Amino acid sequence: MSYSVSPIGFVRSCFKEKFAIPRQPQLAPAARGVLELLAPFDNGDAIQGLEQVSHVWLLFLFHQALEDKPRLKVRPPRLGGNQSVGVFSTRATHRPNGIGQSVVKLDKVEPGKLWLSGIDLLDGTPVLDIKPYVPYADSVMEAYNRIADSAPALIGVTWQDEALLQAHSHAQRLAEPLVALIEQCLAQDPRPAYQQPSPERRYGVRFWDVDVHWHYPQPGCIRVLDVLLAG
Ligand code: SAM
Repeated sequence: MSYSVSPIGFVRSCFKEKFAIPRQPQLAPAARGVLELLAPFDNGDAIQGLEQVSHVWLLFLFHQALEDKPRLKVRPPRLGGNQSVGVFSTRATHRPNGIGQSVVKLDKVEPGKLWLSGIDLLDGTPVLDIKPYVPYADSVMEAYNRIADSAPALIGVTWQDEALLQAHSHAQRLAEPLVALIEQCLAQDPRPAYQQPSPERRYGVRFWDVDVHWHYPQPGCIRVLDVLLAG
């Protein structure tokens, strides 16, 4: 038996590639995007009342991780990428039906568009449904998760003087909190756990329309090298 679903909209996000996206929502409050709704949901009727809600659940497709053959076990980055656990005990992107869910902040609502922050979604992510976050039902006081019991540890992020000036200037041009976005995302240490980078190794990622480069001058510390308009 199979069912078909169709997107109700697509996210236009600060994240242009999977690398360096936080592993869960809320970890980078400066990560912003707009959910653009498709007809008929771009009609104001579909979002009437949503201005009374601070956060929403988004149900979406991991459209860049869809696979034909379901995996039973996965190796979550959270466990260092070398320990496998059952797919249903993780929030891995490779999963049956490729469905993701994130609680995100709703900053502004207008017919056809929802402005979001604290997102962990790639640009172009197809959204299947939106539901209001209901604090009394969705927040479970006694809940625990022994695989992921707290937010990932953060590492220090420092800047080359020139890189910080570049970031401020692009932030102004984009009217986006770009400096905070870079600091919040890089502090999660996006590099795969098994890579032990030498200080010479440069890493890069695209946020909005800028390419950000950094290195690890010493273990556990990031230095941003430049923030340049993407070529
Ligand atoms: N909060 C969601 C959940 O629990 O279902 C997503 C968790 S998943 C571990 C987060 C990662 O999904 C991000 O770090 C990013 O690399 C990846 N991701 C985000 N949007 C994606 C998409 N549309 N396709 C494939 N991977 C995506």
